[in-house]
Amino acid sequence: MTPDRLAFDLQRTLNELQRERERTQKLLGELEHQNRELDRLRSTVHRESNSRLLAEEALDETRDRLQLAVDAAGLALWDWQLPATQVFLTARWGELLGDIAADGYWGVADLRERLHPDDLEPLRSQIMSLLEGRSQRAVVQHRVRTADGWLWVETHGMVAEHDGKGKPLRLMGTLADIGERKRIEQDSAHARDMAEQASRAKSEFLANISHEVRTPLNALMGLTRMLMDSPLNAEQTGWLSLMDSSAHALLELLNDILDLSRIEAGKLDIENLRFDLRQLLEQATAPYAEQARAKSLEFRLDLPSTLPQWLMGDAGRLRQVISNLLSNAIKFTPRGGLIEVRASMLPTLGDASQRLQLAVRDSGVGIARHHQANIFDAFTQADASTARRYGGGGLGLAICSRLARLMDGDISLQSAPGQGSTFTLTLPLREVQAVEPRPLSASAELTGVAEAGPRYVGLVVLLAEDHPVNELMMRQLLLRLGCTVRVARGGVHAVAQWEQGGIDLVLMDVQMPGMSGLQATQEIREIETRRRLPRTPIVAVTANAMPGDRQACLAAGMDGYTAKPVSPQALIQEMDRVLQAGEARDSAEPAAAAAPVAHPPEDPLTRTAAHLEALDVEKLLRRLDGDEATLGQLAQAMRADLASRQLDLQRALAERDVAAAVAHAHGLKGSLGSMTAERGARLAKGLELAARSGDWHLFARALPLLQAEARQIDLALAELLQAQSRDLFDSRQ
Ligand code: ADP
Repeated sequence: MTPDRLAFDLQRTLNELQRERERTQKLLGELEHQNRELDRLRSTVHRESNSRLLAEEALDETRDRLQLAVDAAGLALWDWQLPATQVFLTARWGELLGDIAADGYWGVADLRERLHPDDLEPLRSQIMSLLEGRSQRAVVQHRVRTADGWLWVETHGMVAEHDGKGKPLRLMGTLADIGERKRIEQDSAHARDMAEQASRAKSEFLANISHEVRTPLNALMGLTRMLMDSPLNAEQTGWLSLMDSSAHALLELLNDILDLSRIEAGKLDIENLRFDLRQLLEQATAPYAEQARAKSLEFRLDLPSTLPQWLMGDAGRLRQVISNLLSNAIKFTPRGGLIEVRASMLPTLGDASQRLQLAVRDSGVGIARHHQANIFDAFTQADASTARRYGGGGLGLAICSRLARLMDGDISLQSAPGQGSTFTLTLPLREVQAVEPRPLSASAELTGVAEAGPRYVGLVVLLAEDHPVNELMMRQLLLRLGCTVRVARGGVHAVAQWEQGGIDLVLMDVQMPGMSGLQATQEIREIETRRRLPRTPIVAVTANAMPGDRQACLAAGMDGYTAKPVSPQALIQEMDRVLQAGEARDSAEPAAAAAPVAHPPEDPLTRTAAHLEALDVEKLLRRLDGDEATLGQLAQAMRADLASRQLDLQRALAERDVAAAVAHAHGLKGSLGSMTAERGARLAKGLELAARSGDWHLFARALPLLQAEARQIDLALAELLQAQSRDLFDSRQ
């Protein structure tokens, strides 16, 4: 071999070796890469298996927590895979039943066995509603039989799985022991029953007490009134008027307490009768207008001409609310302030009914914001010093707001200390058309017997009353009204007296020993029907003042009702009403001689009297049902009365004679009021108040005002009489 050849071969071998080395290196590189990849994969696998472990741990923890919650809540779990007839229940179920305490399957029939028969139906209907897809969840309270008797449980259930068509495949839920809750519920229902029973007992007690208090109070007030009309010296009159006002205050308080307890016992009935809105508002505010003036407060009554006349509602309760609000307004407004009553109608959306809005505004002391929230609660006064300074029991506003709510309305308050207060009453009231019956004659608005005079001359009244003092008082009252009085001491006697005939009207006490007034009335009505006798009007006079009493009296066949203590005004009104009704019933027969005068209305346009401010002749004539002749007589009588009363008042002032001053001012107030001389009547009332409080200085200042007004009234009356005689003269020609 040549050296060259050797060198060549060597070179070739070296090259091959080189290539081999490069290949080996490449393989090594790939191997390394695959090794790294393997490591990466290994670590991923490791991580993943770690997190699966973690997830499993978390799941275990959640399951433990859930189990703990289920255990803590004392819940049993149930699981029902449909359509199997077996339900899986946890061990707690066995614990609840008090016998078997292990997880297990229960046959549906065995479970049903355990249920209270009364609860089967509600359970069945809930399960059906789940199965039929009407609901997704259900809750039923029912009883199950345990080793110790019946146990109340609450079962919750839900649909846990559906098939492809939405049909339930599996129901699951819980069961909880609610025995304790049920016991508490039953205990509180029992406590509520007891409380209601106690509250009923309280109202009955109040009704009885009210009866017991009203009867002697009636006698006291009646006797006081009688004494006041007898000759007395000034001091005695002062004491008597104090007695009278104390008795009134007592009666008011008694009425407030009774009202509140009736409202709270849900026993206060709200009437729905037709009433004249304007007349009601004028009459309800008139006494307060007077009080305001006596306290030097400006009083405004704003009644827009658009107010409807006739509304349906409870006029008495409306008047009660107005009176309460106004008496507060006057009480809490210092001298020189302003009181305003403003009425308006608000339309109610959606139907034809309307709402009456009545705002009573004063410029008085106002009420702090923090007291406003509970001012309508019972026994609440804005602050403790109020009670000391102004008196009052804190019942007025509570009654007002409850009455407003009973009438489907409400009362709101806007006030700030020192800025005055506005109480706004809103009531839904339906407007109605004016129809019968005829309005009461003018004198029914009089305030006492003295003013009413002997208006029932010749009327024979049977008074059924067993209480001697009440009898004496009622007898005096009736005698002064011109009645002839017969007395019966009890029901049997009353029926016997009535049977003798000649009785025009019966005033019947309800609670009498032996035969009650109700029974006596029933008997009289039976005899009337049997013998076809004309119906004798019967008016209940009773100290029963609970709701339902009026209905009981009417149901027994009575025609009217007046509560004790008897107010002459209420009695006269009721007597007028039943006598008029009787008259209307047997209008074929001549009217009873003593029935109040009532004439058919005439066309007011035919009248040509002067319109002077001192009198509202139009109104007066309306009150007299258009009776011109009576108007003339009244005008003459009034002129004479005005002249003599002024002299009497002057004399009383000169002699500082309280009794005479009170009596004449009071008399004048009544006659001027019924003559529609409102301003004059207010002045007379002012005089009466001044005389009652013995304030001769005030009296001396007020008398000339009254005299000036009296001159105006006299002028108006004189013109009226002149116009009448002119008409008469014209018609004769
Ligand atoms: P009371 O018989 O004590 O007056 P009310 O229920 O009528 O009871 O009133 C409760 C309280 O509300 C009053 O004591 C008074 O503090 C406050 N109040 C009522 N009306 C007014 C008013 N017009 N102005 C200021 N405070 C009033």
